[in-house]
This record gives sequence, C-alpha cells and structure tokens, in this order.
Amino acid sequence: MNKDNLVAEILSKFKPNATQRKVFQLLSDKQWHCRSCEGKTIASEQYAGGGGIQGLQRGTKNRPGLVISSKNEFCSECQKTTRWDCWTGEIKTANAAANIPKKLIQKILDFYSYTDVIEQRKRAAHELVIDHRFPMERWDNAEKSLSTYMRDDEILRKFQLLKKYSSGNQVLQYILC
Ligand SMILES: [Zn+2]
Repeated sequence: MNKDNLVAEILSKFKPNATQRKVFQLLSDKQWHCRSCEGKTIASEQYAGGGGIQGLQRGTKNRPGLVISSKNEFCSECQKTTRWDCWTGEIKTANAAANIPKKLIQKILDFYSYTDVIEQRKRAAHELVIDHRFPMERWDNAEKSLSTYMRDDEILRKFQLLKKYSSGNQVLQYILC
C-alpha cells in the first residue's frame, strides 16, 4: 500500500459530506494550511474542533488518528498571524508494534490459524499483520491490559489478521516479523 492508498483508505472512512472529510481533503496534500482563510471557508467554526482537526487527531474505531502539526505564522492572505496546520502523513499507530507481547502475538496467530480476514487465506507469519479493532484513542488504556493470557473472546473482539502489503503500510498495522 503506498501513500496515496493511505489517503484513499482514510477518505473511505468518512461519510460523503462529513466536515471531517473536507478538512482531511484539505490536509491530505501534507502542506501547511491557514485555519482562518482556508480552514474556515470549508468548515466554518468546526474546523479546529471535534468536527475537524481535533477529531482527525483523535481517530475513531474505524479510522486511525492523524499526526497533525500546528504552528502560528503570518498569513499574507489574512494579513495577520494565524494558526496553521499540516498533516505529517503519519497516523498514530505508527510504533505500537512493540506493545504486543511476543507470546500474545503467537496466540493471536494460532487463534486465527494464520488466516487473514479479508481473503481467508492461510499465510506465513511474515505475510501477516495484526490489526486492532478497537478505537485508537483508547489504545493507551487498553494496552495496559494486554496480557499474554488473553482469552479467546478478547482476542476475537480486539484483533484481526490482515495480509501484509509490500512496504509502506506499516503505519496502519502491527508488524509481526
Ligand atoms: Zn490565512
């Protein structure tokens, strides 16, 4: 999965006319955007809040949180200093792989018989990634309870196996090998 696919994948998670979708479309070029002249024209007062930037940073059950940088800078359009935002192109699960204990990884592989959820094909461990089903924003709490002795029903609720694409999508999923 390349970078464009990541954008497409994230875009597919929004409802067609959602404010967040418009905000994400603006930020998807990974350039800096002025909140006042650019942001507010597409999303008025919701641009910075839960319906816009903040919501994008948080993520949901279906969509990862985005890593968005913000700064104050003079805007020649607005003729004053304003708030600017830029999506780094990263999502927040980037380095979570290390957080799953090795024994639990093995248990998840065994539980799903090394079979990816989409194509239902049995694969070698290095062809699979563990994807988590629960909201990213709860990850910090949830991860504390990640136990090597997780019950099967918890594994079923929390994780699924996906086929690993060629390099580039590590940010979306946990690397197994
Ligand atoms: Zn501006």
